[in-house]
Parts: sequence; C-alpha cells; structure tokens
Amino acid sequence: MAPYLQEMKSQGSNTSVFLKNKRGLLVKGSQVVVIIILIAISIFLANFLTGNYYSYDNIIPSRNLPSLNGATRVSNTNGEALTDTSTAKENEVKSSGLKIPILYYHYIEVNPNPIRDPGRNSLLITPENFLSQMIYLKNAGYTSITYDDLLSGFKNAGTLPSKPIIITVDDGYTDFFSNAFPILKKLNIKATVFVLSQGGKIKPGFYMSDNQIKELSQSPLITVGCHTEDHMDLKGRSETLQRKEIFGCKKQLESLIGMTVRHFAYPYGAYDPTTIRLVKEAGFETASTTNPGSYQSQNTPYTLKRIRVGNYDGSGLKSILSRYP
Ligand SMILES: [Zn+2]
Repeated sequence: MAPYLQEMKSQGSNTSVFLKNKRGLLVKGSQVVVIIILIAISIFLANFLTGNYYSYDNIIPSRNLPSLNGATRVSNTNGEALTDTSTAKENEVKSSGLKIPILYYHYIEVNPNPIRDPGRNSLLITPENFLSQMIYLKNAGYTSITYDDLLSGFKNAGTLPSKPIIITVDDGYTDFFSNAFPILKKLNIKATVFVLSQGGKIKPGFYMSDNQIKELSQSPLITVGCHTEDHMDLKGRSETLQRKEIFGCKKQLESLIGMTVRHFAYPYGAYDPTTIRLVKEAGFETASTTNPGSYQSQNTPYTLKRIRVGNYDGSGLKSILSRYP
C-alpha cells in the first residue's frame, strides 16, 4: 500500500489520532487568530506613533488630504473631514503636486422655479453668494489663474502666485454671461467657462449664444474651454461617439472664437481610458474631473481635481477650502 493510503487508513480507523489531529487544527486556528491580532495591534501602534492613524485619508488618494501629525480633525458622520485645526505637515502628497484648488460652479442665479425645479438648488449659487465668495478669495489673498498658468507652474512652480486658485463654471448657461461675468470683471478675477459647442443651438436662451461665447473669449479674464457638443456622458460610449463629441466641440469652438481651445472638462466628471486618449489626441492640454482635491500633479494633467462649491457665502467657501489643506 502506498504510504499516503496507509496514513489515510490509520487516520480513518484510529479515533484518537483523528481527535489529536482535530485538536491540533484548533490549536493552529487559535494561533492564527493571535498572530492576526498581534499584527493589527502592531499596525495600529506604528500608525499611531507616526500620527498616520487617519487611514481614511491615506487609502483614498483622490481625497488628497495630507496625513496629520497630532492633528485634531473634526469629521461628519461620513468620516469626511470638515475642519483641520492643526498645521498639516509637509508629506508625500504635497511634494508630488502643486496646491492649486480648482473650484467649479454651474448656475449663477436665483432659482427661477424653486417649486417646480427644486433639484436645481443643488447646482446653483445666487449672484449675491457668488459675489461674497469672490470677495472672500480676494481678501484671503488668493490669486485667480488660468489653466495655462497652471501648465506653466508645472514647468516652473516659481511662476505661480503664492495662493493660486482656478475658478471654473460648467455648461455655459446664459446666467454666466449676465450674472457671473459682471462680477468677475468688477473684481478682476479670471475664470474658465466650459461650454457646449451646440448648447446655444439646442436650447437658445438657456445656454449662451455664439455671440456671447465670442464676446467672453475676447476678455483677458475668461478662458473658453470645451465640455463636449451637447453634454454627453462619455464614459463607456463607443470611440466613434466620443470622438465626435470631443473633436467636434474643439473644432466648432475654435472656428467660433478664432483661437485654440486647449482645456476640457468631462461632463458629469465621467470618463474612461478611451476618453482620456481622445482628449489628448484632439490636442487638449488639460482635462478636469469632478474628483475632489486641491493638489494637481503634472503627471496627471488629464485628471485634474476640482472642488464643488455650493450656494454659500464667503465664509462657507472658507470652510470648504479648509477641508483641502
Ligand atoms: Zn456639465
């Protein structure tokens, strides 16, 4: 009989051996549990002693929050950091990118139909609050920059002001022209508006007209960027369709404003590897997502992070920015 068959036979017919083996397994099982507990305690102690025990921030890189040394951090029930009352220590996240918060807005208006269209409230900021936020940025020492400035900063960080910030407004609604543009002009603040090349044709009066986009493009304060032809969710779409939306938007806008359009924002913040490849191939130099964060890396110019701002006044914006130290 083969040795392994003998072993099986003896185990099967000898109860004491079986029990011994079973007991042996139990001992092994409890040893494994003890080892796991010891490893867990070691990891906790190591992180605790180095101040990195806010593992949430470390395992979700898109949040881009630096780990804190001995920090007191107030969180809401989702574990999202609301305030940071300590001085954040320089760490690997900071050194791998430039701190350039990119804010994004949609409607700058008072909701025309608050009862029929309550959903719009989550996408708007009143002109009054927008003004308050822009004044806050000025008073807090922020300097608005363009995406071209950001690209220059990637090459030479010394070209950037001390507190750079990019203001973006998506979709190109007419209220940008009538409400936001006058405020930006008054305060001499730069902004990028990501428009739909077909918007004014699809919904005249709702999206800015060609003439309005053209006028904006002449302002030294405004950069006109692309947001597809008609606000398509590009993720998962065929290459043919994505190509039409990305290349079509660029071509139409460039022929309208007579200058190169170099910056793109993904509608709904949605993209896939094909989208990124096509945006690059079309000649765009940056693309902005809705992934939250304030540090921008020169290695990822096609997935720039942005911070969504709600309908708050200047102090609300201050609080939002404090979440991205
Ligand atoms: Zn959009």
